[in-house]
Amino acid sequence: MGSVTITKRGEQRVRNGHPWIYKSDVVATDAAGGDLVAVVDPRGQRAGYALYSDRSEIALRMFSRAAAPPDLSLWRERLRQACAFRTSLGLDATACRLVHGEADLLPGLVVDRYGDYLVLQALAQTTDRMLPEITALLVELIAPAGILARNDPRVRLLEGLEQRVEVLYGTVPETIEVREGPIVYAVDPYHGQKTGLFLDQRENRIAAARYAHGRVLDAFSYHGGFALTLAPVSREVVAVDISEAAVERIRANAARNGITNVEARAMNVFDELRELERRGDRFDTIVLDPPAFAKNKAAIPKALSGYKEINLRALKLLSPGGFLITCSCSYNVSEAAFAEVIAAAAIDAHADVTVVEKRMQGRDHPVLMTVPETFYLKCFILRKLS
Ligand code: SAH
Repeated sequence: MGSVTITKRGEQRVRNGHPWIYKSDVVATDAAGGDLVAVVDPRGQRAGYALYSDRSEIALRMFSRAAAPPDLSLWRERLRQACAFRTSLGLDATACRLVHGEADLLPGLVVDRYGDYLVLQALAQTTDRMLPEITALLVELIAPAGILARNDPRVRLLEGLEQRVEVLYGTVPETIEVREGPIVYAVDPYHGQKTGLFLDQRENRIAAARYAHGRVLDAFSYHGGFALTLAPVSREVVAVDISEAAVERIRANAARNGITNVEARAMNVFDELRELERRGDRFDTIVLDPPAFAKNKAAIPKALSGYKEINLRALKLLSPGGFLITCSCSYNVSEAAFAEVIAAAAIDAHADVTVVEKRMQGRDHPVLMTVPETFYLKCFILRKLS
């Protein structure tokens, strides 16, 4: 087994529970990219075992701090525990995340379940190299009908890995039908965003349905997750997404579920909010679920002004007594920073606003306590008093 020697600062990070050690904290390497290596501290003592990348800024992802080197049975056990946890949640859905990387102690690996199929992503050199073993373990543990690797996210380029989509096991159809509560969705696992659906919003959609009423605006709708969940408790829903393909999906999903009060518009939300305000339109419930505006630290100031603008306009469009369900999935924007932006928007909108619920990503996307970045999805359910 190869080894990588780290600095005192790197060792400190490991001790503080952060699984990542940056390239700048590596002092010597006797290993190849993609190896599972022994991590050695500056005094020559073994600090544990990690996944090593020779390309990424994240050189090491800690895997185990035990004395003995990890073997396949540890991978098997972690996969088993991750799946067992999801089963224990008793989710009323046929799609969910089974493995959420670092937060399941399986760094650089994502596995989502869509009915009888699995869609996975290997986001580190080691998990990419281990795909044959990981596939065999998943087949043994879950017996899926097929496993698709959606290895096309851009972060793979940082690892020096190519972007490719391939079937690793069995067959995977172009369209998979899954159910979330009473709503059935058609999922395209080969081309859909992320692995097909935004599974992390499941519980927030259910929560939103507790308050939604009257006329609803679902902004950044994608395939209509919020729109379709809220339609049965609302008079009418306007769903807005910039992507024509997404809007087609919303219409098809509405038809599939016999929902007739959803109108889907292919529009830029920034323009549409301005236009709705100009026309004096009003809504009783508004959902804002934009893509991550801050993809890196440099983008934070611009992201905050984007969040401010859409929240300000939404609060103006909202009737008194109405609810705003507002989300940020930028891991670079903390919950506190997001709350500040919303407060500033409320002041500018001359609105009295209360926080009804503070929410986050679904329970199948756990947050690792020592890694604040894993708390990426923030969701406030707000009530406009006046
Ligand atoms: N609410 C969805 C997930 C939204 S993901 C759900 O519950 O499943 C973000 C969506 O915003 C994507 O579908 C993307 O196409 C859309 N989008 C990005 N920028 C946009 C813009 N300026 N105007 C409208 N839609 C936009």
